[in-house]
Amino acid sequence: MKKKNIYKYPMLWEKDDLSLKVFCSIPNIATGIVLSTDHSLFIIDPGDGILRDLNKNFKKDEILTISDIFISHGHHDHIGGLWGLLTYLTVMGKSSGLNIHYPLGSIEITTILKAFIDVYKHELPYSINLHVIVNESPFTRKKIKIQPFEVEHYDNESHGKESVKVPALGYKFTYDKKSVLYGGDTAYCDNLVRLTKGSDLAIIEAGAVTEDDKTHMTIKQAELIGATAKEYFLVHIPN
Ligand SMILES: [Zn+2]
Repeated sequence: MKKKNIYKYPMLWEKDDLSLKVFCSIPNIATGIVLSTDHSLFIIDPGDGILRDLNKNFKKDEILTISDIFISHGHHDHIGGLWGLLTYLTVMGKSSGLNIHYPLGSIEITTILKAFIDVYKHELPYSINLHVIVNESPFTRKKIKIQPFEVEHYDNESHGKESVKVPALGYKFTYDKKSVLYGGDTAYCDNLVRLTKGSDLAIIEAGAVTEDDKTHMTIKQAELIGATAKEYFLVHIPN
């Protein structure tokens, strides 16, 4: 087990033609991740800045081949770049379809997508397929097996409001016998522990502000889980 570049972005991992890049993952600011093979380009959590980072790393024609966006949950730091990305693909004339995967019941994601489709439905050059994830059944896209799994995440307590559980997912991607796990934002939970074990790469959040934060993990908790994967990145660590 090797720990890599804990705090420095971007974080890059590659094995054969499977590669993963975390452009950024900072709580309350943005998370943006790409996963690619020779035949596919996926976005995981289109946080603010995703469009800028994509354009720094890929040619326009490559960006137009994005086939799937996977969203862990609806907090602003994970979806802040979604509208801009979808609009960019429209303006640039994307012609191939786009699948957007997200958890059932996420009001933020549903609202943004509904509004976007309402505004652009007459000029969209590509089709958008909304894939609401309702259970943990695996599915395959571009020869990559995707295992969505439920994690435990909450809204922040604020303005006297009690924190409530939000629909939140992690995803495990398996391609050509290699696996990459992204846990999204989560407290310590069994699903994450079970699915991280043996992964080639695990991307684990360590966003806890205090020891008793029930919506994120401490660095210690995240390291314990990450160490059961072959390699891991700790992300979403507060500044
Ligand atoms: Zn969150």
